[in-house]
Amino acid sequence: MNYDRSYNFSAGPATMPEPVLEEIRDEVMNYRGSGMSVMEMSHRSPVYQQIIDEAEQDLRDLMHIPDNYKVLFIQGGATLQFAMIPMNLMKNGVACYVETGAWSKKAISEAKKYGEVHVAASSKDRNFCYIPDCDDLDIPENADYVYICENETIHGVTWPKLPDTKGRVLVSDQSSMFLSKPCNVSDYGLIYAGVQKNVGPAGMVVVIIREDLIREDLDPRTPVYMSYKTHADNGSMYNTPNCWAIYCCGKVFKYLKSIGGLEEMEKRNIAKAQVMYDFLDSSKMFTGTVDKEFRSLMNIPFVTGDKELDAKVVAATKAAGYDNLKGHKSVGGLRASVYNAMPKEGVEALVEFLKKFEEENG
Ligand SMILES: *Cc1c(COP(=O)(O)O)cnc(C)c1O
Repeated sequence: MNYDRSYNFSAGPATMPEPVLEEIRDEVMNYRGSGMSVMEMSHRSPVYQQIIDEAEQDLRDLMHIPDNYKVLFIQGGATLQFAMIPMNLMKNGVACYVETGAWSKKAISEAKKYGEVHVAASSKDRNFCYIPDCDDLDIPENADYVYICENETIHGVTWPKLPDTKGRVLVSDQSSMFLSKPCNVSDYGLIYAGVQKNVGPAGMVVVIIREDLIREDLDPRTPVYMSYKTHADNGSMYNTPNCWAIYCCGKVFKYLKSIGGLEEMEKRNIAKAQVMYDFLDSSKMFTGTVDKEFRSLMNIPFVTGDKELDAKVVAATKAAGYDNLKGHKSVGGLRASVYNAMPKEGVEALVEFLKKFEEENG
């Protein structure tokens, strides 16, 4: 069906799979005979309980999440986790962070409020266009965890392999790469992802946490909402959860299962990003800003080297129905976010457009 939709290259909130949007549309007036939409129903009703239970189970199936991990649906987006992680995981009051771009920087400054933060490696020297070597990090003896942002949404860098944490708990912000490829959950102590990048509507984060990291002995001033134990003990329903986001995310989990799971998703993502990177590598006008081995499959920043020309390209793409390509101010130029739900045809069409632009303006 033609809905006259743009190809939306937004970094977030971002495009969602059309079959999922259609299902949501069909259920919005009356969810499966309940007489109401999911927006209107009690989170304590059996019909809603089934929605949240299935969402959790489908996510467990997709990621093969081991039984000793809890899956939590929490509000406050990914940003609240910048504080919740140190509040809950800093037992000794010391943590190790790797600084790879804008989002790990934010996590570092928030964590500093709660304890000693040791920045073990950084790629700041070249404006975060690579991932530093993390095979032999200097990790303090008593560090409670090692923190990384696994895909830096703004700078467009991703980790080709995980750091050697020397036995410490690994904590990862997967917001902009969640479910883009298979993930070995047991490599991590805690994984979290704000869902509006690669899954569903904004305002919620999925936290996958190893059970033994859920503590009771937190600072007594810790707000009840900020304790993982609160959410774990109450099936993510201590208070009213983001029912709508959980429902939409559940549909996306089912959709991903139906297309062949994360192995298939990764194949499609590689093929899709390749279209964009091949173009950038052959173009005389446009250049990718990231060192090749650290290029993200999800967020692709690129520049012309001339600010006025960058702005002209952004305006031209927008007029042609390719939306949200303006780069973040800290990198400049353009950025194509090509999350799971962006079809390959969208990237091919954009590349055709940029080629033509280059021919006409080069
Ligand atoms: C968007 C983003 C965040 C912040 O997400 P909010 O839900 O807006 O708080 C954190 N980390 C990464 C990697 C992101 O892409």
